[in-house]
Amino acid sequence: MAFEKQTFWEDISTANTIGIAGHIRPDGDCVGSTLGLAAYIRDNYGKEPEVFLEEVPVAFSFIEGAERVVTGYPSREPFDLFIALDCGDDGRLGKAMNYVKSAKKTYCIDHHATSNGFLENNLVLPDSAATAQIIYTLCEDSKIRKGAAEALYLGIVHDTGVFKHSCTTRETMEVAGALLDHGVSSSRIIDGTFYEKTYLQNQILGRCLMESVLCLDGKVIFSSIDRKIINLYGLGPSDTEGIIDQLRVTKGVEVAILIRELTPRSWRVSMRSCEIVDVSKICSMFGGGGHVRAAGATMSGSRRDVINNLLAEIEKQLTAEE
Ligand code: 5GP
Ligand code: MN
Repeated sequence: MAFEKQTFWEDISTANTIGIAGHIRPDGDCVGSTLGLAAYIRDNYGKEPEVFLEEVPVAFSFIEGAERVVTGYPSREPFDLFIALDCGDDGRLGKAMNYVKSAKKTYCIDHHATSNGFLENNLVLPDSAATAQIIYTLCEDSKIRKGAAEALYLGIVHDTGVFKHSCTTRETMEVAGALLDHGVSSSRIIDGTFYEKTYLQNQILGRCLMESVLCLDGKVIFSSIDRKIINLYGLGPSDTEGIIDQLRVTKGVEVAILIRELTPRSWRVSMRSCEIVDVSKICSMFGGGGHVRAAGATMSGSRRDVINNLLAEIEKQLTAEE
């Protein structure tokens, strides 16, 4: 069904119970868009949506409402309204799909090119840099308070890599500027949640850079983190954030690949590209998805199988371009 802004807000104002969830392994945009929308509803509609996330990474715990996030997906009475943010298919929503199945009304608001319109009402804008940016455009600027503004700014900062990825547009900068007017401290969010790294995160970044390999005449850079390393350092999912971005800016590189072993022979894949290769197309072929320049998937096989499969697809796209 087509998304209508007016109906969306009417549905929010008439619902007695509202649930909001983002994708599994939440990132800045996932946390920022869910908590930003929840804060806006709390501030303007006098009701408290329940926000469900797998976890809130420690660096984001100061965002308003983070302490009330429900983890573990407990069973709940069916929601009048359930909103899925920043994810475009049931696999990405994970266990929150149970709330969707029983909810009276459902909405999906997302910006992934591979989003498949899986809910009743879907607003998918692949040209938006972040789901948080879409949420801002649905809200009335004068009704946004500082807590909601900080959350939305967090989402935009993270999905644009601090306004440097190609998804950053004039609208992105204008939305971010408007959010600053609501009292957001940009340095707290940019330094505190994006650039600041723990000693452990820096160590693993250094290790991944040192062990990286160049392939396809230096157009592809690849690095991996296996279970041995994960256990040795006690790494959590957010400890490897940002490594892929550092790999991508290697001179001459078009595609960066980072793979992390989840269970034996199962790998979490992150891909980034600069100008040519559509990595969402490649990740979709292996059951994942994402954006043209940033995508992910979960793949099985040995490390060598995974890299060979990905390189073959990258090579096809690079050759087609020549
Ligand atoms: P990351 O590499 O940071 O995990 O993900 C890059 C982008 O691709 C993010 O926008 C993320 O939401 C998306 N993405 C990552 N993994 C998957 C996946 O398995 N399926 C889908 N549909 N999107 C993914
Ligand atoms: Mn996003």
